[in-house]
Amino acid sequence: MTDIEVKHALCEKCKAIKPLADFKKYLTLAESKARGYVGQVRVQVESRFCKACRPKKKPISKLTSKELQNKAVSGDLHPFIVAHRKAAIYVKAHAAQVAGGHKGQQARRLNEWGGVLDAMQIELNKVRQQEKYCLTHGPAEMAMFFRAYIGVVSAQRANTKMQAMIGTQRAPEGVWQQLVTPERVSELREMWESQPIEQRINRRIPILLDRAIANEGTAS
Ligand SMILES: [Zn+2]
Repeated sequence: MTDIEVKHALCEKCKAIKPLADFKKYLTLAESKARGYVGQVRVQVESRFCKACRPKKKPISKLTSKELQNKAVSGDLHPFIVAHRKAAIYVKAHAAQVAGGHKGQQARRLNEWGGVLDAMQIELNKVRQQEKYCLTHGPAEMAMFFRAYIGVVSAQRANTKMQAMIGTQRAPEGVWQQLVTPERVSELREMWESQPIEQRINRRIPILLDRAIANEGTAS
């Protein structure tokens, strides 16, 4: 018997002659018991296939809860490892559920606030047209006023949208104008009223000021 016969073997699959160590494999406890071995002994056997040709064992991190449970029962995996992996699987599944819940909640809130956000966008679109007109035809002061107004309303809209998504606040029953602080409104009103009357007359009054002017009208 030559040395190569003792220490090497022929793989039945790839037909390569490889060291004997490549053919040794441990049975799982479940496999050992199936072959009639008793006790917690992992039996080493010689495979017909070399290591490279044998199917790869699934790593522990890829095992499902059911597979983990089977390995716990057979004794192939320590119960501590099984419990740890099963907990990790549960947390991962639960995390996805929680994230999904948040998404649904966000969509619901955005839907609730949708009317308010849309109304603000419509106003912004109108005033942007007015600004565009004044930038071309003048007066520059009026264009500046519209710019300031757009700044206030778009900042408020961004803030409101954020509130809608993260906040617990309910959408207002009334109009969006009430979301803007009175300070901002009176600043804009001063700007508007400092424009010459002939520039204000026959021009659409921005909604935010329309209401403020109307309130003043009823007070006097
Ligand atoms: Zn092989």
